[in-house]
Amino acid sequence: SDINLFNLFEKKQTRYGIGYDIHKIDFKSKNKLKLCGIYINHPPLIAHSDGDVGYHSICDSIFGALTIGDIGKFFNNKDKRWKNKNSKFFLEFAREKISEKNAKIINLDMNFICEKPKISTLANRMKLNISKILKIDKSIINIKATTNEKVGLIGKNEAIAVESIITIEL
Ligand code: ZN
Repeated sequence: SDINLFNLFEKKQTRYGIGYDIHKIDFKSKNKLKLCGIYINHPPLIAHSDGDVGYHSICDSIFGALTIGDIGKFFNNKDKRWKNKNSKFFLEFAREKISEKNAKIINLDMNFICEKPKISTLANRMKLNISKILKIDKSIINIKATTNEKVGLIGKNEAIAVESIITIEL
């Protein structure tokens, strides 16, 4: 109805979004750690939701690239609705925002910063989970990790952080 012919030929823009998240480890809990949808034999993270720090980081990168704010704006951590919520739900919401704006994901690069667990052995399954939720090919997802060289909270294995950078075409 209001299709602007000029828009059809408009060149798409490349946009980038950065995401960062960190959660402390709960050594008193008997629950398992959850990273990008994978349960791991390691104490879990302290969080209002299920604490999937990987998915939170991706969400923020998507909201950044779309310039629509951050995860706290959509999912306030004081809101009871998100208590122990599966973070897959947040990532699906972010994916819907991508669709609404007719954007296309070009690349997702993630960096885990932690002493444990060993991310390299989990990366392939993480990519599979992310590719299913975001409906993108595994080949455009990169997952890497670094330790914090024993420095600070992360270095003492008391916290896990993840940073993500996403590239989209809009
Ligand atoms: Zn988080």
